[in-house]
Amino acid sequence: MPPLTDPSDVLGLTLAEYAAALGKHPVAVRPQYARLMREDGALLPVPLTRREDDGGLIKFCLGAGPVGQGLETESVIIPMNSYRGSSWHTLCLSSQVGCRMGCTFCETGRMGLLHNLTAAEIVRQRIAARRIMLERQPAPDRHFRYFADGIQNLVFMGMGEPLDNLDAVVQAVRVLSEPAGLNFPLGQITVSTVGRIDGLRALARLQWPNLRIAVSLNAANDELREQLMPIDKSMPLADLQRALVEYPLARRGYFLIEYVLIKDVNDALEHADQVAAWCRPLRCVVNLIPYNKQRDAVYEAPSDDTVLGFLHRLRSHGVFVKRRVTQGRDLMGACGQMGNPLARGRRGEAAPLPK
Ligand code: SF4
Repeated sequence: MPPLTDPSDVLGLTLAEYAAALGKHPVAVRPQYARLMREDGALLPVPLTRREDDGGLIKFCLGAGPVGQGLETESVIIPMNSYRGSSWHTLCLSSQVGCRMGCTFCETGRMGLLHNLTAAEIVRQRIAARRIMLERQPAPDRHFRYFADGIQNLVFMGMGEPLDNLDAVVQAVRVLSEPAGLNFPLGQITVSTVGRIDGLRALARLQWPNLRIAVSLNAANDELREQLMPIDKSMPLADLQRALVEYPLARRGYFLIEYVLIKDVNDALEHADQVAAWCRPLRCVVNLIPYNKQRDAVYEAPSDDTVLGFLHRLRSHGVFVKRRVTQGRDLMGACGQMGNPLARGRRGEAAPLPK
């Protein structure tokens, strides 16, 4: 373990790794580690920008990458409500600045890959969000609890494909769930992938059955999916389905299958039939996401009637399905809208997709 050169390096380390870097026993440095991760103001990143919409959704950006390159992470704190009246927040984390997957319906995909975030840069988003939440509503008790700030779920659904930056994401998950530090339960962390089969197999080898997995599907025939998501050329639907069938889910676990509904592209009832057929061997819930308009988009959002028709068709096949309520459109913080147009295309556009 190399020595720590910067105090904020600790954000990328578990307790055991921090102790090893200091050449000490973990028990001896546990209080110091806990203080650094939970309380130390010196490690708290200051958001470069922070905006809040009328519904309470907060989008914030932090500096990332080498100094002077002007790169930023984008993160979103999303207020959630259940039909039973409980409320909580979900934090949407970025794993990269930009993305090389090139999904045609996604603003981030148009930036190309600009920077793979380090584990520390991912964890900083959680710490910044915690500070923002506690400023608004101080925690009533002095004891650290992971949900005291109201954030009960972490989802890797911001900028980037998490499994394209697998080592850093896995290390960030280790740090986020470290009991001596941020202590966020694995079962409340979701990694969302475009369908990187190699990454899914690597995650499977970790034997983290409680970690939640979301897969961005968006079409259940390869011809259409290739048009929307270039990854499908090298990792087609049949192979993706096999990787999911073989994945070691927890006994009550299920996959979240995400489907962005785009008007006149993938919103016909026959597409719903194909989705139902593809999902049949999987334990899953389909999450329907009406397309969010982007800055100079060629696609359009479907009507409410179309979304409902698609939803009912899936249900008629016995598929568990829910519809995501769109939030954050005004801040360009909704699904598929993240990405700074000024940074787009500076470099990385030509990065090849994985084979
Ligand atoms: S949808 Fe996800 S994987 Fe596809 S381009 Fe956007 S950020 Fe990348």
